[in-house]
Amino acid sequence: MGPGPSDVSPRVLEALGRPTIGHLDPEFVGLMDEIKSLLHYAFQTNNELTLPVSAPGSAGMEACFVNLVSPGDTVIVCQNGVFGGRMKENVERCGGTAVMVEDEWGQPIDIAKVKAAFEQYPTAKVLAFVHAETSTGVQSDAKALCQLATDNHALSIVDTVTSVGGINVDIDGWGADAVYSGTQKCLSCVPGISPVSFGPRAVAAIQNREHKVQSWFLDMQLVMGYWGGNTKRAYHHTAPVNAMYALHESLLMLKEEGLENAWQRHQTHHDALVAGLEAMGLSMVVDKAHRLPQLNLVNLPEGADDAAVRAALLSEYSLEIGAGLGALAGKAWRIGLMGHACSKKNVVLCLSALDNVLS
Ligand code: PLP
Repeated sequence: MGPGPSDVSPRVLEALGRPTIGHLDPEFVGLMDEIKSLLHYAFQTNNELTLPVSAPGSAGMEACFVNLVSPGDTVIVCQNGVFGGRMKENVERCGGTAVMVEDEWGQPIDIAKVKAAFEQYPTAKVLAFVHAETSTGVQSDAKALCQLATDNHALSIVDTVTSVGGINVDIDGWGADAVYSGTQKCLSCVPGISPVSFGPRAVAAIQNREHKVQSWFLDMQLVMGYWGGNTKRAYHHTAPVNAMYALHESLLMLKEEGLENAWQRHQTHHDALVAGLEAMGLSMVVDKAHRLPQLNLVNLPEGADDAAVRAALLSEYSLEIGAGLGALAGKAWRIGLMGHACSKKNVVLCLSALDNVLS
């Protein structure tokens, strides 16, 4: 019950163990098509350029930046936790200038500040933000932020690593241009793959680039030759075949449950966990209106030894919870309720174990 990777279901682990076949085998190519169509469902998009990058969430992030940011570009980056900082690094390594819009850790992105940044930098090419900040347990208003980007003729890059499968991610409804996610959070798949999706405006920007993308591996024009639409599939890299079996199975499970049911399950168990924690006298870091159901930030109670409590939970109850990060290090715990791990059994285990360790 940490901030990810979450528990992987036996069904996904079984898929992972199936015999390895070639990455251009007709059976595998059929599976790739199914993965794309299941990703369309999970992301709620019809974007043709939707595929899993064969590397973790950070590579999905990098794929968005290296394909859309060129030297000299100005990018407005929102930071209200760890991962906005990683976006800034990406912008600068692409030769761009990052204009930072900062909010306190534990607070959502302030739309008014982003609006002001666009007024000050009207030629900004991209607006980048994290929808669900894993370091703070906060959800920001992705629809409003994507709209702001469109209104200002900028592209949006949206981090949905922790959101997909846990809360509403609606690429087409938001009008988001480039979105990446991860497999290891609410999809409860093995870590190491990053689904990405690029909308028509982002695809046009990629096609009209004046310079080659500096990363060969993440150059979407090349990756498209392997994962692309109607063209004949050609070798680009050796796909992690077994991890793709696992992703396929986890996406299938999400579709079988239904997006809305999955979001409701996360909300229901989150409500139960919060009620239990508050009954124990503990308090939440984030205001109710902006809390992520899949990641619960709990203030450390007076006098509690952060590391000792987490170590006792792990050794006595085989239960992992996360430490606070950055500005929240030593001040909060991060309790995950992600995907397969988001269950009544885990809520009860966590509350009783924490109560025993703290008393
Ligand atoms: N973005 C967010 C919001 C994350 O939570 C994470 C990982 O926890 C990442 C990006 C990076 O993903 P990965 O660790 O899979 O590279």
